[in-house]
Amino acid sequence: MRDLSRQAVIERLRRDPAPEVLVVGAGINGAAVFRELALNGVRAVLVDRGDIAEGASSALSRMVHGGLRYLETAELALVREGATERNRLLRNAPHLVGPLRTMVPLYDLWGGTFAAIAKLFRRPTTSGRRGAMLIRIGLMLYDWLGSRERTMPHHRMLSRDAALTAMPGLTRSIASAAEYWDGWVSHPERINLELVLDALAAAPQADALTYAAAEGLGPEGVRIRDTLTGETLTLAPRIVVNAAGAWIDRVNAPLGINTRMIGGTKGSHLVIDHDGLRAALGDAMLYFEAPDGRTCIVFPFLGNVLLGTTDIRVEDADGVRCEESEIDYLFAVLKEVLPDVAIGREHIRYRYSGVRPLPYVDAATPSLIPRTHSLVPSEPTPERPFPVLSMVSGKWTTFRAFGEQAADEVLHRLGKPRSVGTQSRPIGGGAGFPADRAGWIRDLARETGLPDTRIADLLARYGTRARDAARAIAAGPDAPLEGLPRHSSGEIAWIAREEMVAHLADVVLRRTLVALRGEASEEAVRAIAAVLADTLGWSAARTAEDVDATLALLRDRHGAGYPLKATRPVSATS
Ligand SMILES: Cc1cc2nc3c(=O)[nH]c(=O)nc-3n(C[C@H](O)[C@H](O)[C@H](O)COP(=O)(O)OP(=O)(O)OC[C@H]3O[C@@H](n4cnc5c(N)ncnc54)[C@H](O)[C@@H]3O)c2cc1C
Repeated sequence: MRDLSRQAVIERLRRDPAPEVLVVGAGINGAAVFRELALNGVRAVLVDRGDIAEGASSALSRMVHGGLRYLETAELALVREGATERNRLLRNAPHLVGPLRTMVPLYDLWGGTFAAIAKLFRRPTTSGRRGAMLIRIGLMLYDWLGSRERTMPHHRMLSRDAALTAMPGLTRSIASAAEYWDGWVSHPERINLELVLDALAAAPQADALTYAAAEGLGPEGVRIRDTLTGETLTLAPRIVVNAAGAWIDRVNAPLGINTRMIGGTKGSHLVIDHDGLRAALGDAMLYFEAPDGRTCIVFPFLGNVLLGTTDIRVEDADGVRCEESEIDYLFAVLKEVLPDVAIGREHIRYRYSGVRPLPYVDAATPSLIPRTHSLVPSEPTPERPFPVLSMVSGKWTTFRAFGEQAADEVLHRLGKPRSVGTQSRPIGGGAGFPADRAGWIRDLARETGLPDTRIADLLARYGTRARDAARAIAAGPDAPLEGLPRHSSGEIAWIAREEMVAHLADVVLRRTLVALRGEASEEAVRAIAAVLADTLGWSAARTAEDVDATLALLRDRHGAGYPLKATRPVSATS
């Protein structure tokens, strides 16, 4: 493969500053359209002002779904698309996307019917819980809309007794429950990265650069600032795809586009370490309604539990964090549904927040804002000789379909045919994923001399890319990492070399699940920093600066009281 180091990419861009397409934003939508274009022979350049998946694409509820609740606003096409993409992701990314049994507690038979009718016509309505009849009709429709390429069971309704037997901790106020299957993604940041790496591996004409912000229009084209060095370079693309999520309007304004496209809402999540909560959920997700009608989720997540989410309009997407009032809200709604589980702030291991890049509309209630994605074209002007296509909204689940739609428009404008499709194309370590995992693990363990358990961990994290990781680890040097029993220095060094790492936080927060699992103790962060410094040739001063910045980020944006407690012994599979 060609040299993918920052320096090499920057030199290539200086030599050839006129790509066919510049994609701004390396969240899931930017990565998806970049992959489509690269695979179809387009000279595409992807830039992000931060790391890959640093925005909303690392802040989701991690559900891979059609969106049951969008049925109420009659977004049937969106639900069908989401459910179909869910089914495809289960097949194309089996290393990171899996099925999730979901329970919906129900409190009466007819509740919410009038509110649902009002929502259908997008009329403001008082919020309230949906009853069994509404959910049953919704789930029948949901099963039907998600029948294409389906592998999971259909829904079933449970009596009160059956529901309380299946989940004994549920509130006694339920009248019944529904059970259905959706998907979940353990590590969406890696899928985001793998889309970019797949594109770069398959398409020598494509390039990607992180920590490179699109900052406006100069006489020669779009100004890109390297946020690591402060240097700028100018690119003169034929088309710009603006995939900057909640920042779309901010990227568009200096390009002379002043239409307001985005009206974001913030959502926060908590990662909770609580035995009683884990036991109450078993292996299922609870998809439940708060008394105010908001839908919340709580499900077992890699040995902890993920609880979310809020939905609050925000004007500025920068630096959002989970506020104390949101924690109070999430604790209160959980108490309603699992009244015997007593959680407190001391059980929070990590918190995160992100902004949904929803279309700007004048809806009083955030849940009434349409979730459908759209590609908004802004045609060239005398000052700006290229069109800008803005990718507005879109759920994480539908990234492939949205990327495909945007790429089709770009290919049409470039007059190029589509030669490669992605509907059944595996993503990253999903390629060649073994049906016989045990056999695959045994063979690689034999080849590399690493223990079976280690290979199993690597397979769960990297899919079949685990082969490269294991070979690199076996080739050494490799040593245990202080405070991080799940990882080793050889593995982190492999990530540093292969996965576009520019900052310590890239590895602590996104390439690995160290932060999300609540394992980013100071000693663990320093141990990772030492490996990165060694592998990437960072100076002591630069490393110390990055350590301080990462610890501050963990404390200010994600921490429930840093330093975090020491890592628990490894139990759950990685
Ligand atoms: C709380 C919450 C829960 C959610 N839950 C789910 C869920 O369970 N399932 C689901 O399917 N979807 C879910 N979503 C929706 C989903 O996460 C988002 O719709 C999706 O991630 C948006 O991706 P994006 O690429 O458009 O935006 P982003 O991921 O935000 O990417 C935009 C990128 O643009 C970059 N950028 C900004 N300005 C510039 C610039 N000047 N130059 C270069 N780059 C720039 C940013 O750094 C960022 O990386 C949820 C969202 C939130 C917030």
